[in-house]
Amino acid sequence: MIRPVIAIHGGCGVMAKLDLSEADWADARRDLAEALRVGWRVLHSGGSAVDAVEAAVVVMEDSPQFNAGHGAAFNTDGVHELDSSIMRGSDLGAGAVTLARRIRNPVRAARALLERNTAIMLGGPEADKFAEATGLDMVEQEYFTTERRAQALATLKAKAIAGTLKSATEAEKHGTVGAVALDAQGHLAAATSTGGYTNKPAGRIGDSPIIGAGTYARDGVCAVSGTGAGEFFIRHAVGHEIASRIAYLGETLQTAADQVIKTDLASYGVGAGIVAVDAHGNITAPFNTDGMFRGWITADGDLFVGTHTDVTQVSL
Ligand code: ASP
Repeated sequence: MIRPVIAIHGGCGVMAKLDLSEADWADARRDLAEALRVGWRVLHSGGSAVDAVEAAVVVMEDSPQFNAGHGAAFNTDGVHELDSSIMRGSDLGAGAVTLARRIRNPVRAARALLERNTAIMLGGPEADKFAEATGLDMVEQEYFTTERRAQALATLKAKAIAGTLKSATEAEKHGTVGAVALDAQGHLAAATSTGGYTNKPAGRIGDSPIIGAGTYARDGVCAVSGTGAGEFFIRHAVGHEIASRIAYLGETLQTAADQVIKTDLASYGVGAGIVAVDAHGNITAPFNTDGMFRGWITADGDLFVGTHTDVTQVSL
């Protein structure tokens, strides 16, 4: 019997440590731990990896701490346009929605598409209509808005006018949530959900709904969920690239992931991070920014969460 594992991220757009109070950091760690526990319970009650990653991502979409669902970033028009995808490693089944405006939990719509198996990706109003017809919870735009994201949009617009965009912090720019899991049957899955980056052009689609870029899972190899400058994840087909390095070069999960995140993407000077798990239950969570909200539960049931370099064990 294979011992399940799960790993999650809440984005590599993490604020400088001193910019938030200890209480705010504790809230983020609490919500990460809760997402992990929810996914873990699914895996330990006979659920599949794909059930587990969906459940964990829903918790993070519902939390205001992360840039997905409630708490999503604004585009340049002050609108939330949400992207999400999910992939099942056993048969490469996948679903994705992009530019969704009214779906409370975009990952649920991605999952519904995976099960429907008539299209992998739906975009814009048709994604919203599909979710509504499927019976998913629909919300108004205000549901996604938080004070922190409104402030980030105002700051980035001011910096764009002043010509100081380069000084924007990773936290002002972006964030995403994602989960990867290995279940007791040895199946892998990955899911990702995001509001994209703050002040993005209307209609811009990032890597999170692109299978092979921000999300990828293939049984026998690995499952990957990414966060960071989406355009570069698409150019490098990051999820598929990491899987290919393992499959074709025989690299370990950590070597393959480090190469892509800390060398290939870092060479552009863009922020990037991933969580990934391989077919043996190894977990890695590399990032090239100051921090990445992240956490995992090992095969022994040890739960860890981290924001910056430090990682803390908390009770399961
Ligand atoms: N990867 C996301 C996107 O480009 C944003 C992020 O993770 O920061 O839409």
